[in-house]
Amino acid sequence: MHETSIALSILAAIEDVFNQTPGAKKITKIKLRIGMLSLIDIEALKFALMVASRGTPAEGAEVEYTIEPPVFRCNKCGYEWSIEEDELNKLVEEYGLQSAMHLHPDIITKYFHCPRCGSTDIEIKRGRGVIIESVEIDTEA
Ligand SMILES: [Zn+2]
Repeated sequence: MHETSIALSILAAIEDVFNQTPGAKKITKIKLRIGMLSLIDIEALKFALMVASRGTPAEGAEVEYTIEPPVFRCNKCGYEWSIEEDELNKLVEEYGLQSAMHLHPDIITKYFHCPRCGSTDIEIKRGRGVIIESVEIDTEA
């Protein structure tokens, strides 16, 4: 499952931070920003994090997240816009994009055209992938 590999890369990154923190004892909180276009199953990701963190400094850490709405940009006229989650879900369902977008969120741009100039040369500026916003670490006093 894709969520498992995401969980593993998150853990690897925060363990690096942990190892570079003098006196670090335990990771207590992980804050994530999750791009809406990644269609990540949040519950599956949290579960994968819980399982994969067993026996690591991140075991039992609280996981907080925010969902980052997508921002698209037209490469022809420079127009930028966003879409609502409802609209995204409709598109995903209509074209059966669930598994494809999960791995390659950029695919969604093929189903859009610029609302201003009609160009199909569109890029995703925000709203994909998982970003670690912050990590809280307990240290020895
Ligand atoms: Zn345009």
